[in-house]
Amino acid sequence: MMMDINTKKIKKNAFRVTKERGITASRVRVPGGHLDAQFLSMIQEIAQTYGNGTVHLTSRQGFEIPGIPFEKIPEVNAKLQPIIEGLGINQPEKNKGYSAAGTRNITACIGNRVCPFACYDTSSFAKRIEKAVFPHDLHFKIALTGCPNDCAKVRMHDFGIMGMTLPQFEPDRCISCGACVRACKKKSTGALTGVNYRPQRDHQRCIGCGECIINCPNMAWTRSKKKYYRLTIMGRTGKKNPRLGEDFLKWTDEETITKIILNTYDYVTEYIAKDAPGGKEHIGYIVDRTGFEEFKKWALKDVNISSETEVLTPIYWKGVKY
Ligand code: SF4
Ligand code: SF4
Ligand code: SF4
Repeated sequence: MMMDINTKKIKKNAFRVTKERGITASRVRVPGGHLDAQFLSMIQEIAQTYGNGTVHLTSRQGFEIPGIPFEKIPEVNAKLQPIIEGLGINQPEKNKGYSAAGTRNITACIGNRVCPFACYDTSSFAKRIEKAVFPHDLHFKIALTGCPNDCAKVRMHDFGIMGMTLPQFEPDRCISCGACVRACKKKSTGALTGVNYRPQRDHQRCIGCGECIINCPNMAWTRSKKKYYRLTIMGRTGKKNPRLGEDFLKWTDEETITKIILNTYDYVTEYIAKDAPGGKEHIGYIVDRTGFEEFKKWALKDVNISSETEVLTPIYWKGVKY
């Protein structure tokens, strides 16, 4: 019984119960996966002083420092404090380490700080969502990707956010070379066709990837100033019925996405199975139980959907069935 209580506490404090008795691992999450290099030496010091001298890079963009004796947790928490503050992590109580074992670290591909395909700053948006939702015990997985290449595998998350751009065409700059049409056809969805030696874009087929922009030699296509997003929902991995997330909104904005995520916390609080193991249930199972329309009612509560945004409804998931 005593062990149960401790286990819960440890997990809530982002320390792992390991296979070795009395030994834990500290989990340092990095929202958006981008951090100042100065924090690496602090993580190194913790690993060498309190752990076994190694660090595991987690699949959710965190650092896991193994080999820490339980009794060293308070000292490790003190060492973690400047990292937590430096990363701008929401923390209910100072010097008590990382909080929350429910909502997972919000991950992101590198985005437009580095990648030429990216439509926005993925880490900044990830941090905005982190500020809005953390800490929280409910089991939410959120990931962001700068473009539909989906390097961050966002379709395997409860919420996946993909950057989109609305290509702007400047006819006077077009030399009718056809490079954009070829690029769109070969690398993307074939939304462009050549009409009278000029590219014509089919908005319904366009996924806002920006390949036409990147491939135009004369800057006749440029990125829209406004950032757009695709929101995919209810992807999941795990033992029971894994499946890919499906499109919910296209050509939407940051505010709408943030509000939908927050609304979904209310929805899950209302409908989560009372006997869910460890108080955690993947949202997709709850949606399956209540029906998609009930989820949608909660998710879109007080959300102003702009006229540009497409809402895809109803949604049917395929996925593996056991
Ligand atoms: S998903 Fe797109 S923006 Fe992100 S790293 Fe991959 S190619 Fe770049
Ligand atoms: S943004 Fe992508 S899908 Fe849309 S027209 Fe350009 S290349 Fe094609
Ligand atoms: S790649 Fe640029 S210049 Fe060539 S057809 Fe397309 S828009 Fe015109």
